[in-house]
Amino acid sequence: MITSDRNSADVVVRQSPNSAKIDFHTHTDSSDGALSAKDLIEKAAQAGITTLGICDHDTVSSLAEAEIISGEKGIKIVPGIEITSRYKRFQLHFLGYYFDYTDKKFLSRLDELRDARIHRAKRIIAKLNRIKIPLTFESVIEKVGEHDSVGRPHIANTMVEEGYAQTYDEVFHKYIGIGRPAYEANYPFPPEEAIGMVAAAGGLSFLAHPSHYVSEDLLHYLLKTGLDGIEVIHPSHSDEEIAFYTKFADENSLLKSGGSDFHGGLKNDDRNLGSYVISPEWVDKILSKLNN
Ligand SMILES: [Zn+2]
Ligand SMILES: [Zn+2]
Repeated sequence: MITSDRNSADVVVRQSPNSAKIDFHTHTDSSDGALSAKDLIEKAAQAGITTLGICDHDTVSSLAEAEIISGEKGIKIVPGIEITSRYKRFQLHFLGYYFDYTDKKFLSRLDELRDARIHRAKRIIAKLNRIKIPLTFESVIEKVGEHDSVGRPHIANTMVEEGYAQTYDEVFHKYIGIGRPAYEANYPFPPEEAIGMVAAAGGLSFLAHPSHYVSEDLLHYLLKTGLDGIEVIHPSHSDEEIAFYTKFADENSLLKSGGSDFHGGLKNDDRNLGSYVISPEWVDKILSKLNN
């Protein structure tokens, strides 16, 4: 079912043999993507995608518009979100799908998470000010898109731009990394809560791109948190990893998903869109769990 040709210069293709192209993981400019929902849908249609998951980081603000536009383009939108969670020293991403994105409780939880990130950024900046680095919150927030959530990368980039450090890494090593003078702990948002808020709004949760950070021990722990599935197909996954996560999902009754993680503007984005797709049978299984 999955074909790949990693050793040639050709595009790596992971797709089902039939013509329906299903990509469950893309971003718009509501988070850190480059394209509006409208432009993303247009581009996806050109790439032959028929079902498109939009999963912006910690926001659902593109979904209503996307669903309206998609009808005209003959594309089915899968409402999604990519939620950042913490487990011990790991930052994990969970993909939520098919939840009610107008659910009031869900939306107010997202607001709380955004506020927590703003407060953390302000605490980091206050600590920097105390060690005589006159960074301002305003200069950092300028780097953050309208709906994007502020984090340490924005602080690091601003510090480099304003000449307080030579490199992004230097900012973490000297100032804002763990144990450094301007370090502030993350807002604790454990996997159970991320998964729980999606479930409470009627949706299913998948662990995103597990090869980025996840040991087998952590996978086994996550099985106990109510996780519904794993993102098996992702541009960062090797053939061996795809085989491993497929087997792990099948053995542990987890659903499987996948997609291009298209942001627009990133290296290989255009090549990946339409190339990292999942089989319609995987979607059928997702929908049947959803309806049970
Ligand atoms: Zn991610
Ligand atoms: Zn993503």
